[in-house]
Amino acid sequence: MSKLKIAELFYSVQGEGRYMGVPSVFLRTFGCNFKCAGFGMPRGELSKEVEEIAHIHQKMEYKKYEDLPLVSTGCDSYASWDPRFKDLSPMLTSDAIADRIMEIIPFNEWRDEHLVITGGEPLLGWQRAYPDLLDHPKMKDLKEITFETNGTQKLTQDFKNYLGVWKGLPRNKREITFSVSAKLPCSGEKWEEAILPEVVCEYEEVGTVYLKFVIATEQDFADAECAIAAYRKAGFTGHVYLMPVGGVESVYALNNKNVALLAMKNGLRYSDRLQVPLFKNEWGT
Ligand code: SF4
Repeated sequence: MSKLKIAELFYSVQGEGRYMGVPSVFLRTFGCNFKCAGFGMPRGELSKEVEEIAHIHQKMEYKKYEDLPLVSTGCDSYASWDPRFKDLSPMLTSDAIADRIMEIIPFNEWRDEHLVITGGEPLLGWQRAYPDLLDHPKMKDLKEITFETNGTQKLTQDFKNYLGVWKGLPRNKREITFSVSAKLPCSGEKWEEAILPEVVCEYEEVGTVYLKFVIATEQDFADAECAIAAYRKAGFTGHVYLMPVGGVESVYALNNKNVALLAMKNGLRYSDRLQVPLFKNEWGT
């Protein structure tokens, strides 16, 4: 039986993108190929906020994932990939994950809930393990999955074939979505490693794909326009969302309206981050 290293598994309302407002199970896998330490920092600088948290954690101060402090700069889900926190993310079998999902969803069965497989970066090596989970008897009534990805990981041929079969049976009426949060230079990641249009276009062979850009400044939007042009040139046909930066309320509230206006002005979609005003982006939301 396959195992997944799981940073978080919780039930909440999807706060971003196409399924905003939909009751959702979030399966947050451990591991990422990026660090995104530039978020919320002046351009060219990297956040050191997590260093102090890691230092405290070395002294075993934090017993569980939810004990960790939230950060206002850098990656807001740092503990889902930073190896210094890996002890807080257990390896769970498909059985254990499916059982836990049944415990946390209302009525203990899939109804209108959708599954969000997020990270970290969920399309790293875990592609091998998902079929075992999705074929579990307790997952048979699941109809919609979103992979929240940074859009840099190619799908393996085996996983592509699997997803085609999973969604393809007409009686199932299943949907697969790739929510691609492509990382602009404000993340601190390199353009040539983060903006990979050919990879994202391939996702369109399997499901609905949209791009989501985190915006804080005019420069970010100028970068987003360049990235959009590159994806379109490669043949990308999906929708594009602009989303305000801000894992904490004070930062989010500074620019959410501006980003909405910018999206309107440019004929793009606006994505909120409902988890910030609703739940203050606490762990498990
Ligand atoms: S890609 Fe996402 S999870 Fe990975 S470091 Fe960047 S923001 Fe964090």
